[in-house]
Amino acid sequence: MKKTLLIALGGNALIRKGQAGSVAEQFENLKMPVRQIARLSERYKIIITHGNGPQVGNLLLQQECCDAVPKLPLEILVAQTQGQIGYMIESTLDSTFMELGINGEKYFISLITYVVVDENDPAFKTPLKPIGPVYTEEQAKTVPYPTRKTVKGYRRVVVSPDPVTVVEKREIRRLIDMDFIVICCGGGGIPVIREGRGFHGVDAVIDKDLVSAKLAEEVAADIFIIATDVPGAVLNYGKPGEKILRSATPDQAAGYLKEGHFPPGTMKPKVEAAMRFVRTCGKRAVISSIGDIEKAVEGERGTEIMCKG
Ligand code: ADP
Ligand code: MG
Repeated sequence: MKKTLLIALGGNALIRKGQAGSVAEQFENLKMPVRQIARLSERYKIIITHGNGPQVGNLLLQQECCDAVPKLPLEILVAQTQGQIGYMIESTLDSTFMELGINGEKYFISLITYVVVDENDPAFKTPLKPIGPVYTEEQAKTVPYPTRKTVKGYRRVVVSPDPVTVVEKREIRRLIDMDFIVICCGGGGIPVIREGRGFHGVDAVIDKDLVSAKLAEEVAADIFIIATDVPGAVLNYGKPGEKILRSATPDQAAGYLKEGHFPPGTMKPKVEAAMRFVRTCGKRAVISSIGDIEKAVEGERGTEIMCKG
């Protein structure tokens, strides 16, 4: 019986820092993580989740540039990025399996995923997460949503509530049981609020690391890998005495978090996601570089969060 591996790909798996983010660049960048995932799929059931920061930012900018057609709400843009990134990952998987000569039946599928959030989540009181284009102070006054001054300039801000549950968890479980590689929860998932027996979308962005931890719990994943552009969680990052944290228990990680080693918006949600998964499931989570996914699975690289014993 294959174990289940959930791999969360950071935005940099598609667009590296400093790149314009053309489609050709995104396809090229995907080759390295996807090659490793293709090899791992021989031994593990695989779920891939991914970020969408740069892609959804570009779609937002396209909204701002055109008045000829109706503007689309954020939830629709998140759905679009799940489609575009899912397609890029799938087609890269397809060509990689051929290149590696991995025979046998390989199935993969991208799933549009909604994620329930709680309308009473205190996060709804204060939109803090900056997204999309940078505006001047004048422009910021004319756009129809809340903005905030950031280091880059004025930007739209949205709320970032906690993920409560992934609506398609049962479908995802069935698909991995049939050995499908499932690409899902892109961009944190489409945030929805329950309304009776239905749902409606909200203007919010769910953190992709936290939703990945929730999904890993809900599908009973065995190993949770968070792949990003640094070798792991670093103590004293960018300061004297900087050192990669190779392993920690959830309690030790919580201590480092409290001491301020991991800033909000980047490393904090990854450490938090790893801690939540390990605390609820008693299994192993690793934060590693996208180049080291296979080694991270073996426990040879990255920051490993697990209970000792
Ligand atoms: P992703 O797109 O993978 O979610 P993020 O940019 O959100 O990536 O987070 C990774 C970034 O976190 C790194 O590029 C690094 O600059 C930053 N970072 C901040 N603090 C730390 C830390 N203590 N250890 C490692 N990286 C850190
Ligand atoms: Mg991030």
